[in-house]
Amino acid sequence: MQREAMPVDVLFVGGGPACLAGAIHLMDLIAKHNERSADKIAEPMIAIIEKGSEIGSHALSGAVLDPKALDELIPKWREMDFPVERYVENEEMVLLTETRALKAPMMPPGLEDHGLPIVSIAKMQRWLAAIAESKGVMIFPGFAGSELLWSETDSDNGAGGPKARKVVGVRCGDKGIDAQGRRKDNYEPGMDLQAKVTILGEGPRGHLARQLIDQLGLDEGKQPQVYEIGVKEVLELPPGSVKRGEVTLTMGFPLDTQTFGGAFLYTMGGDKACIGMLVGLDARDPAIDAHYLLQKLKNHPYFRKKLAGGKVVRYGAKTVTVGGWGSIPKLYGDGAMIVGDAASFLNPMRIKGIHLSMKSGMLAAEAAFTALVRGDSSAAVLAEYAHKVENSWIKTEMEPAKNFHASFENGLSGGLTRVGLGLVFGPGDEIVPFHADYEQMRKQASVHGTSGYPKRDDLVYDGTYLLDKLTDVYLSGTKHDEHQPTHLIIADTEICATRCAEEYGNPCTRFCPAQVYNMIDNDATGRKEMRVDFANCVHCKTCDIRDPYQIIQWVPPEGGQGPEYGIL
Ligand SMILES: Cc1cc2nc3c(=O)[nH]c(=O)nc-3n(C[C@H](O)[C@H](O)[C@H](O)COP(=O)(O)OP(=O)(O)OC[C@H]3O[C@@H](n4cnc5c(N)ncnc54)[C@H](O)[C@@H]3O)c2cc1C
Repeated sequence: MQREAMPVDVLFVGGGPACLAGAIHLMDLIAKHNERSADKIAEPMIAIIEKGSEIGSHALSGAVLDPKALDELIPKWREMDFPVERYVENEEMVLLTETRALKAPMMPPGLEDHGLPIVSIAKMQRWLAAIAESKGVMIFPGFAGSELLWSETDSDNGAGGPKARKVVGVRCGDKGIDAQGRRKDNYEPGMDLQAKVTILGEGPRGHLARQLIDQLGLDEGKQPQVYEIGVKEVLELPPGSVKRGEVTLTMGFPLDTQTFGGAFLYTMGGDKACIGMLVGLDARDPAIDAHYLLQKLKNHPYFRKKLAGGKVVRYGAKTVTVGGWGSIPKLYGDGAMIVGDAASFLNPMRIKGIHLSMKSGMLAAEAAFTALVRGDSSAAVLAEYAHKVENSWIKTEMEPAKNFHASFENGLSGGLTRVGLGLVFGPGDEIVPFHADYEQMRKQASVHGTSGYPKRDDLVYDGTYLLDKLTDVYLSGTKHDEHQPTHLIIADTEICATRCAEEYGNPCTRFCPAQVYNMIDNDATGRKEMRVDFANCVHCKTCDIRDPYQIIQWVPPEGGQGPEYGIL
């Protein structure tokens, strides 16, 4: 069967805020250029591929939106049908102990959200996608980019060395392959999208972005990319109980002082509210389980009162890139650029990345436009993107928070002191180094002694308000055809059964928020072995990031599969 190829001018990978904003801005730039110039860009072919079954199905965020980038992209959004859940009218920061809640007298500087819109990121993305399509952008949901297409270029990047390799598009994953790698009746080779410029905006731990970064050494001299896992539920509350836009941020319980993270509660439209926890994937404790911590959080008297009568209706999990300014890789190579969370455009102090991702997409679009006009998509031309980031409000916002992650590497109290001092005296010139997440996990015995992971018998799962993991996975709507190769590849499962079991107690059985990894008894061998229930996967990539041996690799499954978040 012939592999189809489709030539496009600019290909965006990922239907998130970064690429949607980039595609809209590019269309606007082309339209303006065509009005003014005789040398028109005729029938521009601008495409977005998205691995979810539709735009927004894999989208999960807070989300309180800083509308800075949206104001620039679509200045009249307030007069349009932009989907705002509520505007923030009341906000509070609360320190939780096991039984008490201590409200801070004011919001810490930089964390104020008063007046900002609370959005469902999925609804916002669908709104942006409709605008992009109305301007002529082709959107292909259900298409997962599986590898970069490369060619040799004439350029040696001025170094006189070997010729550079140029990205010339993306190959999408094949469909209809069975678990043994054989072609099924519905086999369809993945399409090649051949692009003059490829823009990678796959979100945290982007699969193609990593290929680009690794192949071209774009992270040389940069801080490692580090992450938090965000787990989130939407609750339906009793009719009439949600009256205004409220944001609550909490610190402390149920996290220990060595584990970085916090929680949020936002009210949404109708009678809905969302509650979520963010937990650093550099947590020392191998037994950390963000889903369990979220249930503990909801069981706290403070949230029991706030969410009284609530029923969980949706669940999801996604990672957030929190390395900040120092972790941003070189943003371009020949033929390609990286935007959004995939390139670390998130302010870790505010846990806000939508506006920064959108702006990065727009600046990459400006460089792509220059490339189209000049007929040259070499790295030398695409460097315009990095130059524009350096001179934009992205830098003004992100650079002062550059040492936020490093401040908390050794615990909460020291971190708060360092951040406080930074706010008073400035962040300093130096970027303080920090470690990759997987290097930070401590061995089981050093955290829990010889008795193994602590028991978790303190919660009663009622199936409505407190949910066990598998019930929540069901509410993520995630689905994968089980007759396909696993998209979670463990390089050596013998390590799971031996070294990892002894040293770390198989932490993936805890840290995966979708219970993909299970150690089960094998009666034939008489020992425990790893079973990977990849059909449960919600594409958060925690396993790929946190596994202490770095032997788990997440690759995109067949396009159109995975979670169906819809309203998260
Ligand atoms: C729990 C949580 C709370 C947050 N709260 C806030 C908040 O309140 N405010 C805020 O501003 N930010 C918040 N953020 C961060 C914000 O969601 C991100 O910064 C933003 O979504 C990044 O946009 P993006 O377009 O770069 O990536 P994403 O939104 O991750 O979009 C990437 C898209 O690419 C698709 N994709 C990935 N790989 C492929 C592939 N190979 N082929 C095809 N498609 C692919 C994905 O399915 C996805 O749809 C939060 C994040 C989390 C997880």
